[in-house]
Amino acid sequence: MVKQIAVIRGDGIGPEIVDQALRVLDRIAVLYGHTFHYTDVDMGGCAIDKYGDPLPESELKKCVESDSVLLGAVGGDKWNNVPGHLRPERGLLRLRAGMGVYSNNRPAKIWPQLADASPLKASIVAQGIDFIIVRELIGGIYFGEHKTEGNTAIDVLKYSETEIERIGRIGFETAQKRNKKLCSVEKSNVLDSSRLWKKVMHRLAAEYPDVELSDMLVDNCAMQIVKNPAQFDVIVTENMFGDILSDEASMITGSIGMIPSSSLGATACGLYEPIHGSAPDIAGQDKANPIGTILSAAMMLRYSFDMPGEADAIEHAVSSFLDAGFRTADIMSDGMTLVGCQRCGELIVRSLQKI
Ligand code: NAD
Repeated sequence: MVKQIAVIRGDGIGPEIVDQALRVLDRIAVLYGHTFHYTDVDMGGCAIDKYGDPLPESELKKCVESDSVLLGAVGGDKWNNVPGHLRPERGLLRLRAGMGVYSNNRPAKIWPQLADASPLKASIVAQGIDFIIVRELIGGIYFGEHKTEGNTAIDVLKYSETEIERIGRIGFETAQKRNKKLCSVEKSNVLDSSRLWKKVMHRLAAEYPDVELSDMLVDNCAMQIVKNPAQFDVIVTENMFGDILSDEASMITGSIGMIPSSSLGATACGLYEPIHGSAPDIAGQDKANPIGTILSAAMMLRYSFDMPGEADAIEHAVSSFLDAGFRTADIMSDGMTLVGCQRCGELIVRSLQKI
């Protein structure tokens, strides 16, 4: 197959980690006889420096016209004081909205080799951590009106039934492919938008009789994720709740550097990125863990290119790398062999086999 991939290296560690993911994709192309064409896209701080805009229309167009987008990370101290509408993160919000990717899927899964890295008690980890958070990505308070009037600031939280229904369906369909348990998370004891959310989820449930739907208030969910994560299979929630809960979920699995994500909309063209930021504290030092980005590339193959075997091959190669005792600094423990970002990519490429 021939695929066009828009590549956004971004800022900080972005270029280092993306380069390792591209090495892995190049090896997959050789092993499986595919051709991946890469188009470089400037977004974030580097685009502000170049064009005075975190995502110019011409760069967004390259993404929309590609088969999928692979992103490293954007942002850094250098751009902290630019006006809000010009911040690097604005580029990211514009990209998500421009691509129409309304569903962000983040797996929270513990690799058995890294069980010790979880901050949770061993007895809780032993029960298993393997769930997905499906987060609504282009609605809610992040996309409502923002304004400041004198010393009062206002941010509007708004959801329509249509917006809730389309993300709800992704939640049910994701659960159907897993253990058929869907937990809908909201704040229906306080918010009208949450009451509508709950109503729509229960209406949809009739169409997915094989999925067991439960409801949970967001504050309780934040507690349950650390108390009993094994109870979850798929969580579906709105934008801001999902943003916060998915960071919490990533921490219980050990390292932020290991976790990939996919964002999809109505078409197969998706946005794939690790969940972490641009880590300016370790940028340019060959210390970053590229595995979250490499696994994001695997998700791209699985969900956008319908290449499940190729995705499995990457995940196996990562597992072999960990089995062999190699660790980047963020997941290092006694008795393991410390490697840098480039060596990590090289060793994973070397472990790749057609399966
Ligand atoms: P961060 O995720 O960049 O870093 C948090 C901590 O985790 C740091 O100590 C960092 O060194 C470490 N870390 C992150 N990724 C790592 C990796 N792959 N390997 C090893 N260690 C890793 O979060 P932050 O420090 O709050 O934000 C830094 C910048 O990134 C900010 O400008 C922020 O706005 C931006 N940001 C961007 C995105 C994105 O592009 N999607 C997401 C979050 C934050």
